[in-house]
Amino acid sequence: MRLAYSTWPEITAFLVDSKTVVIPIGSNEQHGPMGLLGTDWMCPEIIALAAEKIASEKNTALMIAPTFNIGMAQHHLGFAGTISLRPSTFMAAIEDWVLSLARHGFDHIYFLNGHGGNVATIEASFSQIYARYSYTGETCPLMLKLKNWWDLPGVATLCNKLFPVGHGMHATPSEIAVTYAAYPEQVRHVDLIPKIAPSGPILDALDYRARFPDGRIGADSSLATIELGQEIIAMSVQGLLADVQEFSAQVKPA
Ligand SMILES: [Zn+2]
Repeated sequence: MRLAYSTWPEITAFLVDSKTVVIPIGSNEQHGPMGLLGTDWMCPEIIALAAEKIASEKNTALMIAPTFNIGMAQHHLGFAGTISLRPSTFMAAIEDWVLSLARHGFDHIYFLNGHGGNVATIEASFSQIYARYSYTGETCPLMLKLKNWWDLPGVATLCNKLFPVGHGMHATPSEIAVTYAAYPEQVRHVDLIPKIAPSGPILDALDYRARFPDGRIGADSSLATIELGQEIIAMSVQGLLADVQEFSAQVKPA
């Protein structure tokens, strides 16, 4: 079930049986010469929607929230098209999304993330939300979870097998393959020089551009294919269904 394609009475009815919602979250940022700017929000969205389809075929509704498609990407601002929220803005927005959903009764909120640069800020947002209750001594009804799609069960093992050399950290062939599988009309063919991009630390935008001139870090994006993307999506979907089921069953001690 997709929240944005539901009516409010349908959401009210859903909440009778389930209080879990999955939020795909990512970033709109450069992904080298072959990767789409939306790669980091598309990957979790593609996986979440495919999982939702399978769940609904089995009559077990999985609620997918609208995709949170702008993240913390200050280091990518040296490349055209990147849109970034600074950490403080991002935290405030995450808190408001969570509290809006909690207001209606969702109490298990699962963020399926597609951008490594979001992790620290999402975790800090969770602490900020929990702190509201910790300082007042009120019972917090919420369980919040962050999962990167590449950390879903089986996915890292598969990606290591598919791309033993040239996977890298940014504009990776695995994430680009996922988007190519979902949007075959968007496949790009580019001669990458060097084939495997340099690696190094991530600081500010100008430093990033100097260290990683075409935007990639350690990756050979040209290894991405539609077929490999389909394989990665299938593994991720199974992993997500299992992980969300386990999360939904978790209860706080009384
Ligand atoms: Zn990415």
